[in-house]
Amino acid sequence: MEIITLENKADSRNDQVLREKTKTIKDINDEIRKTAQEMVDAMRRGRGVGLAGPQVGLLKRIFVTHAEGDKPRIFINPSIVWTSQEQGAHEEGCLSIPGLWADVKRPERITIQAWNEKGRAFTLEASGMLARVIQHEYDHLEGILFIDRIDEARREKLLDKLGKQEKRKRAG
Ligand SMILES: [Zn+2]
Repeated sequence: MEIITLENKADSRNDQVLREKTKTIKDINDEIRKTAQEMVDAMRRGRGVGLAGPQVGLLKRIFVTHAEGDKPRIFINPSIVWTSQEQGAHEEGCLSIPGLWADVKRPERITIQAWNEKGRAFTLEASGMLARVIQHEYDHLEGILFIDRIDEARREKLLDKLGKQEKRKRAG
C-alpha cells in the first residue's frame, strides 16, 4: 500500500484523488478489515499519526489514527456530530504533503460517531492531539487538505516551497 502525495503540477492524477469526496462503505467485511490493517501498517511505516482512504487511492469513508499517547484506531463511515466553540492552533503536517508544516486552527474538542472494523458502532469524545488528528483525517474524506485551512498568502508560500522541493527531487 503506497501513500499518494500532492504534486505541484497541473492535471496531476494524485491531486485529483486527494481532492475527491469519498463514498460510504456499505459492508464492513474481511476485505475492509484487511484494508484497515494495511492502512495502520502504512501509517506506521510513514511515521504518521493518521491516514485516510484517499491517501492510499481508496475513495471510501475510512481513516485510521495513532495519536501520541493513544492507541491505533479505525474509523469507518464517521461523522463528527459535535465540535467545541473554543478553537486552538497547532502545527500540522500530512503524509501526502511531505516536508510542509503549518499552524492550523481547529475546534479543541469533538464528538465523533463511527463504526469499527468489527462492524460495531461507537461514539468517541476527543480532545487535544487526538481531536486534531481526527479532524485532519476527516477532512481528507471530504477532499480537504490542511493547507486549505490556512490563509492564502501563507498557502502560496508553502506551495512554492513544495514546488522547489519537487524540482530539487527531479534534478537529483
Ligand atoms: Zn493528511
